[in-house]
Amino acid sequence: MCGIAAYTGKKNGNTVILNGLKKLEYRGYDSAGIAYLQNASINILKSVGKVENLKELALKDKVNSFCIIGHTRWATHGKPSQENSHPHTGNKSEIALVHNGIIENYLELKQRLAAKGHKFKSETDSEVAAHLIEEYLKKTKNFEAAFTSAVKHLKGAYAITAMYSKEPGVLMAAKKQSPLVLGIAEDEYFLASDVPAFLEYTRKVIFLEDGDIIKISPTGYKITNAQGGNIKRKISFINWDSASAQKGGYKHFMLKEIFDQPQAVEDTLRTLPLNIEKSFSITPARAKKIKGFYIIACGTAYHAALAAKYWIESIAKLPAEVETASEFRYRDVNFQKDWVLAAISQSGETADTLSALIKAKKAGVKVLSVCNVLGSTIARESDFTVYTHCGPEISVASTKAFTAQLTALYSLAINLAAARGALSKKEAASLYKELYRLPALMTQALKTREQIRKIAKKAYKKPSFIFLGRNTGYPLALEGALKLKEISYLHAEGFAGGEIKHGPIALIDAATPVITLMPAGKTYDKMLNSCREVEARGADLIMITNECLSNAIVLPKTGENLFPIIAAVPLQLFAYYIADLRGREIDRPRNLAKSVTVE
Ligand code: GLU
Repeated sequence: MCGIAAYTGKKNGNTVILNGLKKLEYRGYDSAGIAYLQNASINILKSVGKVENLKELALKDKVNSFCIIGHTRWATHGKPSQENSHPHTGNKSEIALVHNGIIENYLELKQRLAAKGHKFKSETDSEVAAHLIEEYLKKTKNFEAAFTSAVKHLKGAYAITAMYSKEPGVLMAAKKQSPLVLGIAEDEYFLASDVPAFLEYTRKVIFLEDGDIIKISPTGYKITNAQGGNIKRKISFINWDSASAQKGGYKHFMLKEIFDQPQAVEDTLRTLPLNIEKSFSITPARAKKIKGFYIIACGTAYHAALAAKYWIESIAKLPAEVETASEFRYRDVNFQKDWVLAAISQSGETADTLSALIKAKKAGVKVLSVCNVLGSTIARESDFTVYTHCGPEISVASTKAFTAQLTALYSLAINLAAARGALSKKEAASLYKELYRLPALMTQALKTREQIRKIAKKAYKKPSFIFLGRNTGYPLALEGALKLKEISYLHAEGFAGGEIKHGPIALIDAATPVITLMPAGKTYDKMLNSCREVEARGADLIMITNECLSNAIVLPKTGENLFPIIAAVPLQLFAYYIADLRGREIDRPRNLAKSVTVE
């Protein structure tokens, strides 16, 4: 995930692009760069960190160009650094391009191009695209033809915008599974990952679609497909203001991020094939040696860790101990031989998780981390890192990072099982097949939005809420309660369903709604019993299940294992609507920080 902003027209596009990138910083901000055409050659400016740093460079260079492409990066391949920042060029600086997404076959392309004399300057996947266009230009000398031929070889997800010094004013772009919008104005055109980048200048836009290849110049635009056939796309008029445009028209970033989840999960899955070495850099031989897992995390990530325990035990047939990092770091842990420590942290900077990890490392334990920020401290300190690909999460209360962590951890369990022989190849493939349905299943789960909003409307004045779940529903009960606490400031508690009668049932009365998480499977009937028990004490019941049940929030039918990932959606929506009805400051709840870098 990153921000692309590009301009071609008759004026100096410097301010347009730098302001545009600033508006896209919510999509990525580890480094930024521009390529601009001046005196028939391409100049490039790059800086690590925020767009503000790039602005200073552009000011010093007195950038004055009618054709500029810009990028604010959220690294997936190669740490945030000057060399890895976009734009990238080929061997010569005649081609420059910016890319958003992941080019899955970049290593293969890189090898082929290197054999033809291409020298690579970065660790990114993106750079190959610039070299590939350069290679085709040797044959055709025509930018549009070379660009179109190059794009045909790219696998994965991309929004790409490129310029060529020998065709000044022309920008070529392509889109597949990463967003790209065309802005249309009088004698000037814009390309961007999102509308806010150019909303000040035009409200006339085309939302480009997968497979589209776009050519713009100050005299017009053209959309074709890979075969060169012309394509007509509908022009839309945007009537949002800039602030809500950044939130994709949603009222809050949290709601936007809840709706981003199918994409975040899909982007994460794309990097996790059923192959433990490719997905987790663990060789099958090493996987066979692992005897168990310590899983540590804080807050929402701790709930992802708890779900992982169920999966690692039931699928990979390995023991797993889960603990909050803040406890683990001070406990006298008798580390066991050949156990691996898994650390989960969205930011990769969580202080408690980091110090628990260091403690394990000092004891000689191998560390695997699950992070969303490339090159973060926890990722750097780990022996193996797997990244979730959510892009930056702006809302303090985590949503898409949580479900992406769950996705990665579930994939880990299946991969471990396959490598260790706990599952046959066929069984692992069939679980993976279901896992690949996840984005579609989450899209379906998002359709409960209206139902949840109505339930929240009835419940939002209540002072206290109880969440109950068993099995893979249990971590979710904790997460549902945490989400509600974080953003609504209401009292909420999550319990294991079976524990209710051992104490918490004393809390139940008509003023305390009970939300039950009831995955189909071995604990479903037990959860039904808990429902009857709390109902008998006058509580309003809100049931979330993937069984056919009347008066419940019914999610798509899946195996027990996928339930927590899908059921996270209605819980997030529930917390969101309660908090919104209570007028809370949802994206920045009181007393909370996005990443907790202090003890
Ligand atoms: N995969 C590219 C990189 O790591 C693009 C990442 C992005 O979308 O910002 O540079």
